[in-house]
Amino acid sequence: MSAKILDGKAVAASIKEEIKAAVEALPGRKPGLAVIIVGENPASQVYVRNKVQSALYVGMNSRKIELPADVCEQRLLDEIAALNADPSVDGILVQLPLPAHIDADKVLDAILPSKDVDGFHPSNVANLWLGRPCTVPCTPKGIMRLIAESGINPAGKKAVVVGRSNIVGKPVAKLLLDANATVTIAHSRTPDLASVTREADILVVAVGKEAVVTGDMVKPGAVVIDVGMNRNAEGKLCGDVDFASASEVASAITPVPGGVGPMTIAMLLQNTLEAYNS
Ligand code: NDP
Repeated sequence: MSAKILDGKAVAASIKEEIKAAVEALPGRKPGLAVIIVGENPASQVYVRNKVQSALYVGMNSRKIELPADVCEQRLLDEIAALNADPSVDGILVQLPLPAHIDADKVLDAILPSKDVDGFHPSNVANLWLGRPCTVPCTPKGIMRLIAESGINPAGKKAVVVGRSNIVGKPVAKLLLDANATVTIAHSRTPDLASVTREADILVVAVGKEAVVTGDMVKPGAVVIDVGMNRNAEGKLCGDVDFASASEVASAITPVPGGVGPMTIAMLLQNTLEAYNS
């Protein structure tokens, strides 16, 4: 293996220590994060537990609000209204996906933009694309921070993002554009994906399918950011990139686990502290 490992776990740990010190130094009330989870999705349960425990670790007040899978939409909206009005709550996060009978757009729209620590509210999304101050979504923000902490400057580079979701692909493409990369977004209808990914100096893969990118699809010397979190046939956590072959070709690569995932949580804490301070 020749690639340098972009150690998101280590970078996130040092960011968490900085946030912990900042929270400890606050004279009065500590920042508050409320995390709402609907239903029993096992992956969501793990993510929510990590988020709540991380917030508690840095000294924030963190509460988990668990609602049953068959909760009615209005009950969830009422919960959000109460949290919007609660001055001890600075950040509100609704863990996605929501059950099919709930309109996720309606739920995200109900969160006060100033408390929307996921950065999914339409006014935060609009401000991101307009280049105005906003809450930047955690995973894209974490990817950019990891790239910066690793001494990689996207300016003038060719970046390819595989995946065009609202939570990862589109916002990370905008952030790479802001960092002066020349950006291409690929997706499920992109013909000959390999010919597109082979152009990338920085390749971000956010698809949700094991080994959708293999070493032969990576430009020699590229920086590879693997956002995927999948379970392989043995039930082991794996990314979207075939790490073994890609790490032979890339100059730097994120592992899964230990890459983008921990950075996402660190940025959630940062967004909560920023919401408290604003
Ligand atoms: P979505 O399912 O919302 O989006 C997936 C995207 O991948 C779509 O744009 C889709 O294209 C595209 N796609 C699907 N198949 C292919 C293919 N064969 N070739 C090229 N593109 C394809 O996923 P998310 O963006 O929400 O998540 C992506 C992955 O990242 C998942 O594994 C998720 O678990 C993980 N994730 C990890 C986080 C972390 O903190 N580490 C945070 C968030 C997500 P189209 O639009 O045409 O359908």
